Amino acid sequence: MRREQTSSMKCSQTWAKTTGEAMEGGRKQETAMCRLRVGHTWLTQSYLLKNEEQPFCYACDSLYTVRHILIECPDFQDTRRKYFSVTDLYRLFREVNPSRIAGYLKDLGVYGKI
Ligand SMILES: [Zn+2]
Repeated sequence: MRREQTSSMKCSQTWAKTTGEAMEGGRKQETAMCRLRVGHTWLTQSYLLKNEEQPFCYACDSLYTVRHILIECPDFQDTRRKYFSVTDLYRLFREVNPSRIAGYLKDLGVYGKI
């Protein structure tokens, strides 16, 4: 079994254990949530593989990280409020349904790059 499969299975098990709900949204969403939890997404880390400078947020010019997109960016706040209201990553991954996190990222137009 490949490592990615193992870790994404762990992620869905953790979500199910924490909330008592099965994760909706299928395998792509499980993989996306797993990458977000560890902070390693194509969107925020591909600069390492491409040997480029670390990217800055196109909206507010801060360093472009998973935490920035999910929690911190003031320019995404109105969109974020439509999907969840937690203010830290710990609560986000424990209390917010992954479908809502995915919905937020789709709304921003970045879900396909996670
Ligand atoms: Zn920003």
